[in-house]
Amino acid sequence: MSLANQNLILVVDDNFNELKILSTFLENNGFQIAIASDGLSALKLSHQICPDLILLASLMPDIDGFQTYCCLNKSPITKDIPVIFTANYNDSRNIVKAINLGAVDYLTKPFKQEEVLSRIQLHLRLHSLTLKLQQQNKFLIEDIEARHIKESNLVKITQKLEERVEERVNQLSLALHELQKTQKELLAREAKFQHDALHDDLTGLPNRSWLMEQLQTIIKSANKNTNLQYAVLSIGLDRFKVVNDSLGHLVGDELLQKVALRLQACLSHAGKIARFGGDEFMIVLEDIKSTDDAIFLAEDIQEQLKLPFKLAGYEVFVGVSIGITLSTLMEYNSPIDVLRDAGIAMSLAKQAGKGRYEVLTPQNKTRAIARLQLENDLRQAIEREEFYLEYQPIYSLSTGQLQGFEALVRWNHPSRGRVAPAEFIPTVEEIGLIDRLGFWVLQEATRQLSKWQHEFPHHSLLVMNVNLSAKQLKQIKLLKQIDSLFSELGLPPNCLKLEITESSFLKTSSEEINMLHQLRQKGIGLCIDDFGTGYSSLSRLHNFPVNTIKVDRSFVNRLGTGSGETEIVQTIVNLAHNLGLDLVAEGIETPEQLQKLQELGYELGQGYLFSKPLNCQRARQLLSNVV
Ligand code: C2E
Ligand code: CA
Ligand code: CA
Repeated sequence: MSLANQNLILVVDDNFNELKILSTFLENNGFQIAIASDGLSALKLSHQICPDLILLASLMPDIDGFQTYCCLNKSPITKDIPVIFTANYNDSRNIVKAINLGAVDYLTKPFKQEEVLSRIQLHLRLHSLTLKLQQQNKFLIEDIEARHIKESNLVKITQKLEERVEERVNQLSLALHELQKTQKELLAREAKFQHDALHDDLTGLPNRSWLMEQLQTIIKSANKNTNLQYAVLSIGLDRFKVVNDSLGHLVGDELLQKVALRLQACLSHAGKIARFGGDEFMIVLEDIKSTDDAIFLAEDIQEQLKLPFKLAGYEVFVGVSIGITLSTLMEYNSPIDVLRDAGIAMSLAKQAGKGRYEVLTPQNKTRAIARLQLENDLRQAIEREEFYLEYQPIYSLSTGQLQGFEALVRWNHPSRGRVAPAEFIPTVEEIGLIDRLGFWVLQEATRQLSKWQHEFPHHSLLVMNVNLSAKQLKQIKLLKQIDSLFSELGLPPNCLKLEITESSFLKTSSEEINMLHQLRQKGIGLCIDDFGTGYSSLSRLHNFPVNTIKVDRSFVNRLGTGSGETEIVQTIVNLAHNLGLDLVAEGIETPEQLQKLQELGYELGQGYLFSKPLNCQRARQLLSNVV
């Protein structure tokens, strides 16, 4: 399809001939043609048909081509239509005017057909291109606008995003700050944990774990370098329990803090100190020149800790017992062994009478271990009830009648078999278990007596002698225990006689003597045991509310040997009888001894001559045989 076919051209001219010629020519060339013979009808027609191009004569009556053009130009419908002015050949003024007004071209008359055609085609193409361009431009603008919208949306989104990012960054930096704070706190807490794990709360001193670590290193270096000697001192307060029990835990705590300070003051820079809980402290002396270094330190500590402590308005005295173990005397590979040995040495010092120090040697270690083993076994023995009683008969020396029994405790050790009381009673006393064991003996012996009295009514006057440790006299609840025992068994109090050794009588305090008075007032018999061994002044006897004296076996043994014992025994007899006390002899082994004692006027006696201590069945048998 040719370009002309599509195009509608409006030819405007007042000269009919020219109009005709031009339009015919153009029609012949394929254009659609509309014609107008003046400006007004051209304007009208242009609005109706909207031609693709207007050929406009510049000079016309009424409104000329220029005015028409101006009107076309003003209307939005026609303003873009390309207008080619037609003018006479020599009318250059109007041509210029037309061009200035904005006409796309001009054609001069007489028209040259080729030129007309080519100009029209050119301008139509230009117009079509312009339209295309405008269209594209419009698209472009729309596109740009759309992009602008998108961009502004993007900017908004970006802005929002930035705001959120900023907000998030703020939150994150806050969280980071919190995290750093928490981390700091955690680190501080961990540091505190680590410190606490290795230190004692109360005194601030390092603790057992810390010292173990230190010792590990020291042992390693000493094992590599034999010239390196070290000592470990285990320090225990002698009277801490007394202070704690009498003045309370707070004062006890204050005492431990002050002891810690004094111990630190005694230490040279080479010493390391730690608290091992309770009232026990450990000192490690590294790289000592000789054992004297450890001994000097122990003596210095003992001097310093002898001085009183001012606590809660009181002057408190506590001594210390110190156990020392030396790498030169003992061989060590592990801290546990060293610490255990230092503890063993301390227990030796305590056994030796407190306020002392002991250096551990392989020999005394063996002794101490045996002793510790005994302590351990005894604690278990009490739990497991490994004790039982034997009963040694006591006879009237004048009538030969059975008067009663002495209850003697025995320990049936699971591996050692029967252990004699002399071997374990002192330890039971020392480890503070005598109250329990003593009461068990008392209970067992009186229950047994009650059974026998019921079984053998003719023995209703039998007396049971029970040995009482002086330590039991310190126990206020003893009276109550005895009362409830007697009311449980329905026994008369005079069928019980408590034996207390003479040596412990000498140490009795006024409270203990008071206890003895109360026991005596109840009607319970009291007997001084092993009399003659404690060297008590005979004149002091009347201070004690006792009613029987049991003369020690050692005197009975030597009776009649000419060693002057008879005189002593005679003196005792006179004195006892003057004071109204009964006399018992123990350890009678021979008829001669018996005869002598009878002559001297002894009321009662016991010994292998009559009978060894009997177990329960054999004692019962004895009772059933005696009429
Ligand atoms: P003790 O109270 O002087 O007891 C007498 C000791 O002499 C008993 O020794 C007894 O078996 C022994 N014996 C009796 N007759 C003769 C004899 O003719 N010749 C010889 N050589 N010895 C004789 P045992 O049973 O070994 O008791 C030793 C000590 O243990 C007792 O001496 C007593 O102080 C203590 N003891 C025993 N049982 C208890 C108890 O239940 N409580 C307390 N606190 N101490 C007890
Ligand atoms: Ca006795
Ligand atoms: Ca005795």
